Amino acid sequence: MMERRKLGVALVGLGIYSDGELGPALKETSHCYLAGIVSGSERKKEKWKKEYDIPDKNIYSYEDFDSIKNNDSIDIIYIVLPNSMHKEYVIRAAKTGKHVICEKPMANTVEECDEMIAACEEAGVTLSIGYRLHFDPFNLEMMKLANEKVYGNVKRIFASHGLSTAEGWRLDKVLAGGGPLMDVGIYCVNAGRYITNLEPLAVHATEGQKKDKKKFANIEESLTWTMEYPNGVIAECSCSYSQYRNHLRVEAENGWFEIAPSFSYSGLKGRTPEGKMDIKPINQQAAQMDDFALAIMNNRPTPVPGEMGRQDMKIIGAIYRSMETGQRVET
Ligand code: NDP
Repeated sequence: MMERRKLGVALVGLGIYSDGELGPALKETSHCYLAGIVSGSERKKEKWKKEYDIPDKNIYSYEDFDSIKNNDSIDIIYIVLPNSMHKEYVIRAAKTGKHVICEKPMANTVEECDEMIAACEEAGVTLSIGYRLHFDPFNLEMMKLANEKVYGNVKRIFASHGLSTAEGWRLDKVLAGGGPLMDVGIYCVNAGRYITNLEPLAVHATEGQKKDKKKFANIEESLTWTMEYPNGVIAECSCSYSQYRNHLRVEAENGWFEIAPSFSYSGLKGRTPEGKMDIKPINQQAAQMDDFALAIMNNRPTPVPGEMGRQDMKIIGAIYRSMETGQRVET
């Protein structure tokens, strides 16, 4: 029988994304709510407990995290930790028997993604990745214009995403797995796939010059790359940790369509030769988490599964190999 109660979500890691976006979004969701938290900070636990009215029995540390297994009010565990921790926590979450959402990038390597997918399969739980833009009406419109060939076949894609600055674990290759490609360039990789519905055959990447060699000692500061698709489409992409960029443009046989900003949480704007896209924005994270709750309740697959996260990591791995060798690399 289909259950109609709201599913309980536990957020693991109460950093900027949980605090600024996921927590507030869980106040707007219809099919799930914030039931629990996992954090290493007593101060944050107190703050969240008050703000979201979370009972003590649903508040965990990283050490006692595994006992969520015995908590019936938590159905979904959402991993919002630094990238290098995703693998361990997704596997531990799967072992509790709860369904899992993991933030992007899914992990630091394809091998880690394989282990995470296998653990969720073995536990019989559903794994999804925090690809919020698959629920955003502007990006959905871009997918529709491309897939329905409204302006004919797609010829070229331009995607860039950059932040004017980055700090903390994002600058640490061990914790982040890489630089802006892992963090923001991944949106361009994913967009290339949802615009073409194809996998790139090959990639070619060039690292940008480092303006701050100390800050970016172990990771790229910026990167440009191309992705070649089997139908001849080329995606020209770039990412950066020292320059703001936020743009997705598609050129087709008989026209073009674009959004800018394209990858933000809000304020997205779209244009076609007909003028501005007339689209009502929504809360992307609320839509993403509600869709996952419905997927669980209705026993259907999620549109953003672990396999999608793994595939992006495969392409990112090829982009890094190309960056290091200067050669075109087949994926
Ligand atoms: P933050 O650094 O703000 O938060 C990470 C949290 O993880 C910390 O606050 C801390 O929570 C916990 N943590 C545990 N161990 C460590 C450690 N060794 N170093 C640092 N933090 C630790 O990161 P974000 O919230 O920005 O990012 C978290 C994840 O979410 C990343 O994978 C990122 O890529 C993804 N993300 C996705 C976005 C999207 O749009 N889908 C947007 C932003 C981020 P506590 O104190 O509670 O223990």
